[in-house]
Amino acid sequence: MKLNKMTLAGALISALVLGPFSAPVSAATVKPGASCTKIGLTKTLKGKTYKCIKSGQKKVWDKGRAIAATQPLTFDNLDTSRVRKAAYAEIAAGVRSSTTFVPNITFVLGPSLAQSRVEQEMTGLNRASSFWSDLYKPQQVFVSYFTEADVDWVDNAVCTQAGYCPTGMNPVISNVIKQDLPNCNSAMATRNKDGVPFFDQCLGTNSNNAKNLQTGPHEYTHWVQQAYADWGSTPNWWTEGSADYFGNTLGAYNGSTVPSQLDEMSYGSSYGWIRQELCPLSNPTIEAITNCFMYTYGGRGVAPGQGQRWTLAHVSYYMGSLATEAMIAVKGLGTFKNLIKDLKTSRFDEAFEKNYGISTQDFYPKVSKYVLAMYNQSR
Ligand SMILES: [Zn+2]
Repeated sequence: MKLNKMTLAGALISALVLGPFSAPVSAATVKPGASCTKIGLTKTLKGKTYKCIKSGQKKVWDKGRAIAATQPLTFDNLDTSRVRKAAYAEIAAGVRSSTTFVPNITFVLGPSLAQSRVEQEMTGLNRASSFWSDLYKPQQVFVSYFTEADVDWVDNAVCTQAGYCPTGMNPVISNVIKQDLPNCNSAMATRNKDGVPFFDQCLGTNSNNAKNLQTGPHEYTHWVQQAYADWGSTPNWWTEGSADYFGNTLGAYNGSTVPSQLDEMSYGSSYGWIRQELCPLSNPTIEAITNCFMYTYGGRGVAPGQGQRWTLAHVSYYMGSLATEAMIAVKGLGTFKNLIKDLKTSRFDEAFEKNYGISTQDFYPKVSKYVLAMYNQSR
């Protein structure tokens, strides 16, 4: 009898190992402290998720974690395990349903630049122009790409060929290149002297890492904003943060599954967020982050001093990107696009409350909690 039992057990194990599908685990074996086969394996049973963990020399199921009922996301339950996925699903659906639109772009290309590097940029740019085409279809735009080797060429070229001859707040591109060396990967969207959309982007040193996938769609998103809103009237967290968010998601887009590099790209924007001095966040709290959201009002802010050119943007990118993500996760892409449209006639806070059902004052503490939670997860 004993022998028979062992044979039977052996036969069962073989069947499980050889079966073409993942081995069904008997419900009775999944309970806290019962042995399991592989560290990290998870099983869901009766509203709880159990994980196989190491306990001394043994592998056992942990005590389990209750699965949150799938309540709709609201600004009061911005769960870090759900928001990124939910918002990205909206972006992916938006990309899939968009109609192809290729704007008439006049390129002003630095002599040092390889054509292949320009074509690499076009993927994200074309995705952005189609994605936004229900709101924005420019007749004509200018784009200038170059590297740091083109520093002596660029100012005259963009002025004569793209009509960007900077005055006032608009930066002189060769100065930007020199300030940013040894990196050359920054970009800026604006309008040229005739009011035609223009952006420039350095495709030089360090312009090829994951975060730079966002740059083209980021600048394109600025053009969309500019078609509806006076930048002087929108808080910078929204202006830069939404450009960062759409830049990341459209730049890294590869289908319906959340791109693997999205966490890294998102967290990459916290580099300047935490280091800037305009709104100290060395030890961020919900209250400090809420205050930083308020700080970004006043449009693009006063011109920062030498070497501080991007400091207001650095307050805005990370927390503004996460706020945009939360807005899209909770109310969908359509509502976000409606907000943009309403900026044609409404002040930002008014348009926000109309579309989101709460005031910005009530929104900031709620979303700051999400920002802090994501920051603590380095996402
Ligand atoms: Zn920007």
